[in-house]
Amino acid sequence: IIICGPPAGGKGTQCELIAQTYGVVHISTGDLLREETRKGTTLGKQAGTFMASGALVPDALMTQLVAARLKEDDVVAKGWLLDGFPRTRNQALNLQEMGILPSAVLVLEVPDEVVQNRIEGRRTDPATGKVYHLTFNPPPAGDAELLKRLEQRKDDTREAMVTRLATYNKNVTDILSFYT
Ligand code: ADP
Repeated sequence: IIICGPPAGGKGTQCELIAQTYGVVHISTGDLLREETRKGTTLGKQAGTFMASGALVPDALMTQLVAARLKEDDVVAKGWLLDGFPRTRNQALNLQEMGILPSAVLVLEVPDEVVQNRIEGRRTDPATGKVYHLTFNPPPAGDAELLKRLEQRKDDTREAMVTRLATYNKNVTDILSFYT
């Protein structure tokens, strides 16, 4: 399954439900990349600069990352839910060249003003990966430890958001026309 949606469009939440319901492995390219940057790998360092400004990471790097993950045992056994890939027509072509075609492509449609409102209040718990929103899905007020460790993504700024949204809107049409 491939899922597309604007940044902060609710992909993470829907993916959790889909993975639970169908038993497929949720592969988020954003999460894979953040893990690489956190570990300080070469790929992580190369990707980090693009990510911080809200720009796309080059297709070749992305394809390498996703191809490796798709070959791992859990994914081969259970099937996959790709969140954040393909993001360009070229990436969709790369996937096809690897012999990989989705059974379903899901698209979340969320108006720009809604995602803009969501982005600035988004916070992640680095210990569990759980995502909160200060207003719409607030973390439990009594948990002082959790509140202290909550992090805001580097690219969850108004400036990076404008770039991410414009890039998404431009690319989603290419992805949909590729699969329809
Ligand atoms: P978003 O909420 O903006 O969709 P993601 O967590 O999916 O965030 O991705 C964060 C960043 O990682 C993107 O802004 C981009 O820099 C990079 N990225 C993730 N997936 C891809 C991809 N398929 N191609 C290029 N860059 C990607």
